[in-house]
Amino acid sequence: MKTRVVLLLSGGLDSAVAYRVLEDRGFEVYPLFIDYEQKTKDQEYAAAYRLVGNTLKVFKISGLCASTSCDLFSGKNSLRAELHARNYIFLTMAIPYAKHVGATYVSLGIITDLLSDQEEFKDVGADFIDIASQLLNSYDLALSVPLYELNKITVLRLAKNFGLDWKKTYSCLLAEDPCGVCSNCKERAFAESLLDREVQSVRK
Ligand SMILES: [Zn+2]
Repeated sequence: MKTRVVLLLSGGLDSAVAYRVLEDRGFEVYPLFIDYEQKTKDQEYAAAYRLVGNTLKVFKISGLCASTSCDLFSGKNSLRAELHARNYIFLTMAIPYAKHVGATYVSLGIITDLLSDQEEFKDVGADFIDIASQLLNSYDLALSVPLYELNKITVLRLAKNFGLDWKKTYSCLLAEDPCGVCSNCKERAFAESLLDREVQSVRK
């Protein structure tokens, strides 16, 4: 029997690539999408569904959005997109599902990225890895972060190698069409421009 892993799948580039990496390593992947009433949930869900179809499980959190200052919910076109402890919340929600399907791992497609401020996004840093691992270990589960040491350009290269159309993934924090100004859009545009340059220099 294949080792099972529950992967938090957001519909964005990183978790999409994490999905392919896990599959490539021979895991049986159980993708889990969290609808926390974020503004872009429909676009994110559609992107996640395009990738994995009916295997996508959806858990919903109601009311969280309206009770935080995070602009992911407000409809304001702002850059303040942090939801405190988001990855802790998602990871915790994945535990009962992981136990239910007999998974060994819970996986997150987080990366050490190029532009994100580690202070602002506390739940991707080394402390998060330690605490999340301890939490999962206490339920006889382990944390899997297959992209953790990578940056966006490497993730794009992987996407290319897997034949994954990253234009069909969805990472913008703010708007229906990628806004070009949020941290995710900037990071992705920067990585895409690097990759374009790579491809051009290979062609020369
Ligand atoms: Zn954006």
